Amino acid sequence: MPEPGSGTTPDSLSRARIIDGRAAAAAVRTEVSRQVSVLAARHGVTPGLAVILVGDDPASEVYVRNKGRQTREVGMRSFETRLPASTPQSELLGHIARLNVDSAVHGILVQFPLPPQIDERTIIDAIAPHKDVDGFSIINTGLLAARGTGMIPCTPLGCLLLLKQYVGELSGQRALVIGRSNIVGKPMVQLLLREHCTVTVAHSRTRDLADECRRADILIAAIGKPQMIKGDWIRPGATVIDVGINRLSLPSADGPRERLVGDVDFESAVRVAGAITPVPGGVGPMTIACLLRNTVAAACAQHGVDPTGL
Ligand code: NDP
Repeated sequence: MPEPGSGTTPDSLSRARIIDGRAAAAAVRTEVSRQVSVLAARHGVTPGLAVILVGDDPASEVYVRNKGRQTREVGMRSFETRLPASTPQSELLGHIARLNVDSAVHGILVQFPLPPQIDERTIIDAIAPHKDVDGFSIINTGLLAARGTGMIPCTPLGCLLLLKQYVGELSGQRALVIGRSNIVGKPMVQLLLREHCTVTVAHSRTRDLADECRRADILIAAIGKPQMIKGDWIRPGATVIDVGINRLSLPSADGPRERLVGDVDFESAVRVAGAITPVPGGVGPMTIACLLRNTVAAACAQHGVDPTGL
């Protein structure tokens, strides 16, 4: 037992710092909001973000609503296009072509998933690269890989900002990225390489994932498998960034209840890690904040404004 009045318990001594993604995202939005005011006052530019939603997927509805609200809250213009699930690909391409040449629109985002008649890759590559604020186009993917520049995908960018805030210098750190998707895993690898980490990538064919995890100073989980990474896989003191968003249905007296969990088993990991993101409240809030940040960067580039001078 701790000494009375010592203020610590054995449990609190062994618990990781909780990385507060909500606070970090609020700080990003405050900075974006300041930049938007300066852009309007000095350059007469109001950044505009256009979001296209095809169909009525409930999770996508929530994301699009949140994006629109946060866009307006930081003083930018929000444009929404809602199309029925039956929309042909050619019609969606027509909407994108119009937004590509609309000077009030600086960023374009098409909410995924799309209905089966529409090919996601074709849609991504139809968005003008300078308005591709999701950073998924082949041009922005290439720029990040070859030069470490371009529009950076929002979720990995959010993870990087959290790491810089909570770890500081990343150079030389041993980082493990679990997941190799185009939207999270691969760009995350590129960003960590840019920061001079020693990076390992794991995926579904990795032979001994627990062993790979135990070597990592920084562990990024982007898998989509609820609570898969256990506490005893984590190197003591490591920084754990949990990108996963998984919906668990749990029984309760009033019927099944939904609970959001990450790819990391938080309860066991928090006793070993040095710092860890919770789910919800970790990486999630950073994604939209980084989308707003990218939209300001796109508006600056389109109007020849140096963003560092704002
Ligand atoms: P994908 O399904 O595209 O990729 C999952 C990756 O995990 C694949 O590379 C896959 O390997 C790998 N994987 C699957 N099973 C295993 C396993 N048993 N062991 C090791 N690796 C495995 O997912 P996303 O990258 O799109 O998303 C990952 C998670 O992040 C999801 O939960 C998603 O909801 C969440 N997410 C959260 C965001 C946020 O804002 N917080 C934004 C985007 C995603 P392989 O390539 O071999 O198939």
